[in-house]
Amino acid sequence: MSARHILVINCGSSSIKFALIREDREDTLLSGIAERLGSAESELRWQSGEQQHSLKIPHAGHRQALEQLLPQVQQHADGKLSGIGHRVVHGGEHFTAAHLLDAAALAAIRSVSALAPLHNPACLQGIEAALGLYPELPQVAVFDTAFHQSMPAQAFRYAVPEQIYREHGVRRYGFHGSSHRFVGRRAAELSGLPVNDSSWLVAHLGNGCSTCAIVNGQSRDTSMGLTPLEGVVMGTRSGDVDPGLHLYLGRKLGWSLQEIDNLLNKQSGLLGLSGLSNDMRTLEQARSEGHAGATLAIDVFCYRLAKSLAAMSCALPRLDGLIFTGGIGENSPLIRSQTVAHLPLLNLAIDPQANARSVGGQFGEIQAGNHPRILVIPTNEERQIALDTLALLPD
Ligand code: ADP
Repeated sequence: MSARHILVINCGSSSIKFALIREDREDTLLSGIAERLGSAESELRWQSGEQQHSLKIPHAGHRQALEQLLPQVQQHADGKLSGIGHRVVHGGEHFTAAHLLDAAALAAIRSVSALAPLHNPACLQGIEAALGLYPELPQVAVFDTAFHQSMPAQAFRYAVPEQIYREHGVRRYGFHGSSHRFVGRRAAELSGLPVNDSSWLVAHLGNGCSTCAIVNGQSRDTSMGLTPLEGVVMGTRSGDVDPGLHLYLGRKLGWSLQEIDNLLNKQSGLLGLSGLSNDMRTLEQARSEGHAGATLAIDVFCYRLAKSLAAMSCALPRLDGLIFTGGIGENSPLIRSQTVAHLPLLNLAIDPQANARSVGGQFGEIQAGNHPRILVIPTNEERQIALDTLALLPD
């Protein structure tokens, strides 16, 4: 059988990110984004190898953008696209794994939309457009939350009355599942350990950030919760705050829930602390020039990240290694060393030279001497989504 090709799609309300993956190749054959959909400025941009392309598609919606994209995809897939994998943010408790898209699955995704009111309806728009264009092609939904459905109740329940959980789904779900799953498996492979007898801490540090405890290939705890706002400090998201903060701001400033939500999701995190930027590269540069806000943002980021990792260690029987991934985790020796410096009680220590070398999408083992492994592993969520899709294709 010739190698199969999967198109991975990640839809937002006005964008579609895409990647074409071939099962036997690590690199991406074609990737890009359709942006500002629904406006006069709609544009499709894609790249294959070194070549960049763009196409204005004024007033295109999701369906029209996919129509423009698919001939490119077919050309790069030698006319043999085997399936489409859709990233879906929230699968609630309904989905514990990826799922072939049929009418029942679509209804179930719709039924959990209240848990992700911005994201799931956007995903559904893309799914419906793709199903309309390719009704005969197998299509699969891969959920950010599904990997974490293996968490035990002691990790996923909030200490609120049972009824709020049972009737309204208020519990911890976790996100970034495809990334945590991908790097957890890769860590076991690279370390020569069986996936089903291995035990990892993961720090996924991108614009959104989360930590995870993975035991025997399964998530046992993670830092994000009901929404992707809980947990560690992120680019513009606060992570954990006192739940009394909403009431305090409401009373003191007369702010609406919408305004408070905007503050915590869009104006906080690294951006709020530094008063400068949500981008770690900018902050590292400013810190080296003595910028107090950037220095504080990095200090809080690393300390809180270390606290979260220490908390995640409660879910592990032993520690086979700590994994850094995501744009910051893969590229920032400073953040890795400053975080690990807070974790001597886990016996973690970094080799400065190995740490400095492991940047730019390189795998690296960066622990000092005989200390527990610290691994830098480039994540590849698109590939994980493609692998999950391939696993569900009919023979
Ligand atoms: P997303 O969550 O959107 O996929 P990424 O995983 O690409 O985001 O991560 C983006 C973050 O990675 C940004 O904060 C960016 O500054 C940071 N980053 C990228 N390269 C570097 C670098 N060389 N040093 C420090 N931070 C970096």
